[in-house]
Amino acid sequence: MEKIPNQREIFLEKDIAEPEEQVRNREQKFIDDFVEMWGRQNLPEWESFFDKIDFNLLRDLFSELEKKCGITADRSNFIWPEKIISSEATYSNYDGKYNLIKLRAPGSIPTSPESEKKYYYERLAETYGTEEMNMLHTIVHEEAHAISKNICVGLEPSGHHKAHAKEIQSGYHNNDFGLFNEGVTEKIAREILEKYLNSSGWSNEEKELYRRNRKINPEKFTYSVEVTLVDAIIKKLAIKNKLPKDQIWNALKRGFIEGERIMENKEIVSLFKETFGRDFLTELKRLTVFARMFTGEDYEFARFNGKYKLGLKL
Ligand SMILES: [Zn+2]
Repeated sequence: MEKIPNQREIFLEKDIAEPEEQVRNREQKFIDDFVEMWGRQNLPEWESFFDKIDFNLLRDLFSELEKKCGITADRSNFIWPEKIISSEATYSNYDGKYNLIKLRAPGSIPTSPESEKKYYYERLAETYGTEEMNMLHTIVHEEAHAISKNICVGLEPSGHHKAHAKEIQSGYHNNDFGLFNEGVTEKIAREILEKYLNSSGWSNEEKELYRRNRKINPEKFTYSVEVTLVDAIIKKLAIKNKLPKDQIWNALKRGFIEGERIMENKEIVSLFKETFGRDFLTELKRLTVFARMFTGEDYEFARFNGKYKLGLKL
């Protein structure tokens, strides 16, 4: 019987999967080394926050989405707290090579001077409202990356506890489509977070503050430009092709979970060509989150926005 691939697959080289036990040992070694270096797996703030989070509920909410995309619970790559690490020096991300969620220190701005702390707390008050809501959002966002299709090819251990991969795919992100993938990830995260808040018994006051901020300061939230871009794409596809917006969004979620390679799918390529013009996908795939976030003004993105009249506020 052919083995059904898991949501996360690791290949030492093309078509040669890394043996499961080797994967487990390698990943555990990374955590062991991390603990040895930092003296603990997680910062106390995160440790106590995990106790407050209903991970079973969170898993169920992601399962609902996965099931709609044909992924059964046993194939899910939902991350439990034993595979979450944090330190003063980590920044939040999902690491596909070690299948870990790494978290930043709450309230920290790793690269910013102390004077920007004030700015951080001002922004926090205008968006998530509290540090805990912010922390919850971070976990949900990174879980969304983890449950998307993740593939590493050409993995080779290097140094003490580092590995390189020739090719890493995560959701739609496969060398390219970085910004688009982030938008889809965050849009999913917002939906799951909303459902979590509805059923988890989270403080009403905090929920109200967060929801009010969502309405009045939408552009101040993390990855708001990325999500607005995805929304603009959905809207235009819906209008031009006379399809319900929900149907398109569901298809995008499915592609994210299946690891759709957009450029290899002729149907998608021609749909985008007819809707947006010849070069749209080629230009979209080159947009990266890093260019936009770290170089200040991103001319590429601004140009893209103007050319396709997406109307995004940058
Ligand atoms: Zn992300």
